[in-house]
Formats: sequence, C-alpha cells, structure tokens
Amino acid sequence: MLSLMVVFCMARSPIGQTGTVHSLLKNVRALLGDSAVLDELTAAHGADSGSLRVEPTDTQGVSAVLRACAEAEVAVVPEGGGSGLVGGAGPQPFPHVLLSTRRLQTLEHRSGEPAARVGAGVTLAELERSLAPTAWRYGIDFGARDQATLGGTITTNAGGSGVFRFGTTRQQVLGLEYVLADGTVVSDLSPLMKDNTGLSLQDLIIGSEGILAIVTQASIRLWPRPEHRATVLAGFPDLDAALQASRVAARSVPIEAIEFMDGACLSAVAQHTSVAHPLEGHGAALLLESAHDDQTVALAALHDWIDATSPSATAAATDRADRARLWAFREGIVPAITARSSFPLLKFDLTLPQESLAGFLDWCTTQFGDAAWQFGHAADGNVHLNLTDVAQGERGAISDTVYRQVCALSGSVSAEHGIGRYKVAALAQQRTSAELSLMRGIKQVFDPKGILNPG
Ligand SMILES: Cc1cc2nc3c(=O)[nH]c(=O)nc-3n(C[C@H](O)[C@H](O)[C@H](O)COP(=O)(O)OP(=O)(O)OC[C@H]3O[C@@H](n4cnc5c(N)ncnc54)[C@H](O)[C@@H]3O)c2cc1C
Repeated sequence: MLSLMVVFCMARSPIGQTGTVHSLLKNVRALLGDSAVLDELTAAHGADSGSLRVEPTDTQGVSAVLRACAEAEVAVVPEGGGSGLVGGAGPQPFPHVLLSTRRLQTLEHRSGEPAARVGAGVTLAELERSLAPTAWRYGIDFGARDQATLGGTITTNAGGSGVFRFGTTRQQVLGLEYVLADGTVVSDLSPLMKDNTGLSLQDLIIGSEGILAIVTQASIRLWPRPEHRATVLAGFPDLDAALQASRVAARSVPIEAIEFMDGACLSAVAQHTSVAHPLEGHGAALLLESAHDDQTVALAALHDWIDATSPSATAAATDRADRARLWAFREGIVPAITARSSFPLLKFDLTLPQESLAGFLDWCTTQFGDAAWQFGHAADGNVHLNLTDVAQGERGAISDTVYRQVCALSGSVSAEHGIGRYKVAALAQQRTSAELSLMRGIKQVFDPKGILNPG
C-alpha cells in the first residue's frame, strides 16, 4: 500500500515549486495568448497559491502547455466538467497547472454516418443536442450530462444506465487523439470498427483518469436513434423481488435502462421535491425504459415484463415531460438524501456479481440500518450505496469494511467512477501486487517525470 502511494505521488514533492509555476505564467501567456490563461489560482480556489488555470482552444495549445510544464517539471491536472465523484479533477493543494479541456469543442458528424469526431470538452448534453435532429445518438448517458465532458467520460471509462445494452465508454471509442506528458501528440482518429494492429494504446488511455495523457478528441461510435420511448416505475415488496424482476427485463431487447432503488430513496425524493409519492409503502422499485421506432413495440416490451413479473404497483409514461418526472425519482436521489445528512454523504460505487447482489444489499441494511440508501444500475450489478450521517473519523474504517466485503464477494470497489484521489487505498485492496506493478511500469513509460495528475 505504502509503495503504491509513493509511486502515484512520486511527482509531488520534487516538482511544481510555487516560484516555478509563476515563471511558467509568462511562457504560457506567450504560447496561448492572454485569453487562454483564465486564472492564477489561490487558496480561495482550494488550490496552492501560484497555481494556474489554463484553457487551451486546440490540441496544439494543449501540447504547448504540456511541453512547457514538462520542461519546468510542473504538475498538470486535467479537468473536464468537474463532475467526477472521486476527487480526480479540480484545484489541488500543491503547485500545478489546472488544464481545462472545455474549449476543445470540435464536433463533426457527416449525415448518415454511424460515427462522429468530437472534442474532449463537449459535454454529453451538448453532444445529444447536436445529434438530436439526426437518426443517430451516443450510447452513454447519465444524470451529470450537463457537466460531464467527452474527455472526462473517456478517461473515467464512464458507464450510466445503458451499459448492459451498449457497453461502457470503452466500447464507444473508435479512435483517439491524446497528448503525452512531454507534449507529443498521438492521433489516430480513424473510425474503423476493426483494427488489431499491435497493442491497443487507446485502451490504456481510456479509464486512465489523466495519469497517462490528456485526451483532446475522439472518434465515437453512434447508435440508431429510436423514435419512441416508454418508461415505467414499478413497486416491489423488497430489493430481492425487484432484482429478480430486473433479470427478466434484461432479456427484453427494447429495454435500455433498468435502475433499482430502495423504498426509502423514493420517499426521500418525494419529500424533498414535494411531489406525490407514486408507490407509497413499497420496499423497492425498478425504473425501466424501453425504446423503439414503433411505439407499440416499446410499450409491449414493458407490458410483457409487467405480465411476467407482477409488480404490485406501476406508474408509466410515454410523453417526454412525464417520463422526466419518473426519471426524477432516480436522478433526484442524491440531492434528496444529501439534504438529510449532517455530514457529506459517504458514497460507494460498487459492482457485485448478479448472484451476490441481493445478499450484499441485505448485508448493507444489517450493517448500516437507516443510514444506508441503495440504488443503482440493476442489470450491471452496479450499486451506488450512500451512507448518511457518517462523521469524518468513522469514514476510513467503514469504507474499509465495505471494500473488504465487496472483494470477498469477487466484486469491484470502483464500478464506473474510477479511483481519483479518494480511492487509492481501495485500489490496493482489490488489485494484486503483480497488477499494481504493471500499472506503475505503464505510468513510468507514459509519464517518466510523473507530472500528470500526481497526488
Ligand atoms: C449527478 C451525477 C451522476 C453521475 N452518474 C454517473 C453515472 O451514471 N455513470 C458514471 O460513470 N459516472 C457518473 N457520474 C460521475 C461523473 O460524471 C463521471 O465520472 C464523468 O465521466 C466525469 O466527467 P467530467 O468531464 O466531469 O470529468 P472531471 O470530473 O473533470 O474529471 C474526471 C477525471 O478525468 C480526468 N480528465 C478529465 N478530462 C480529461 C481529459 N480530457 N484528458 C485526461 N484526463 C481527463 C481528470 O483529471 C479526473 O481525474 C455522475 C456524477 C454526478 C455528479
């Protein structure tokens, strides 16, 4: 564990002295012009004084900043939309250049093509707005769509509600452009569906959370856009019954989202938003969405599922606004339970094998009682366990207990949010020393001076 911390933190102490970062400012202004250097960061931003925030407008600008930082041995922290949940982006308490990708805004889509070339700074919502008039859509979507950028989702290998149908972000990326720590640009934006020429370097960059390179553009795969959608929120007596019903839904091709939540989450959202509770008294619920060009097929998929699983109550919608009201019961959980907690939520993002999922949720209820709020992406076994009212001094021991249980059940301590700065200890709990040693070797090859995302 200690050696892992040393490897991933190795860049912090010898590099990025405050004076060095100040002298970089002149170089960066000369390279990019005044408009690209937004801020000199200070303690008021939660950053070490003397840090800079830079927003290059193109790949060459990113390359120039990295070259200057590599020469001066200054740390670089890439930042997309800042929606990450593991403390990977944002101002840091050591001298650094915070490199925002938000102005990398390329968006090229040729009519009829099942692929697009997209800049790292484009958010999921911006991408969807641009594709909405076409017959195509992107396969990744989740609640932080207004903030999360394509680059951020690629480097966290983000998931969301459609993973069991479309795969994670890794399965959406056809080609990638990225800049190495020394400023070298590696660009293979070819949208080929098949390319087995040597090692897949882009697969190393995807999910690397900015410690290997900065992603500037990608060629992404697109999927046909269905004309109609239907959504149902269905009540079950308990989580076990809901999870059994979710397995039936996963076999129905038009169904694209299968989200689960415990009854307490539903009640919290209803109270927080002052809307009528659609499934009062149920111990658990599933939110399902089907999609198809033919509305009768989209609806039939949900009706067939209801016939097969007999939920005790349902609320259904086909109209966009009504569907959004049902989705609010899933996407409104975090704000609703945050408002109830006297301390910041202790959040977990876990995957369990399907056969262990119900048992694990039972274990959480026994272990944490009313402090446990359980929801997630049922078909992937992805549990977002959130604990309310956990004081600072208790958080480490509780996290350790949860991660031990997950590892004992052959699950994952990080399903889709990554490791960031918060989960370094959890990484060492799940991965073997052989795996960690390979990771250190790869980091050394890509970033020998250790300037990318240290700490
Ligand atoms: C309400 C809410 C719901 C969410 N739901 C989901 C969900 O369902 N599924 C899911 O997977 N995640 C979810 N997330 C987490 C988060 O949105 C994702 O991790 C997202 O991919 C982060 O994108 P970002 O652009 O905000 O990245 P940031 O938060 O800015 O950065 C994340 C990490 O990537 C690095 N990084 C960012 N851009 C680049 C780049 N261009 N090159 C290299 N490194 C880079 C940063 O240094 C950091 O380590 C949710 C978050 C919120 C707040």
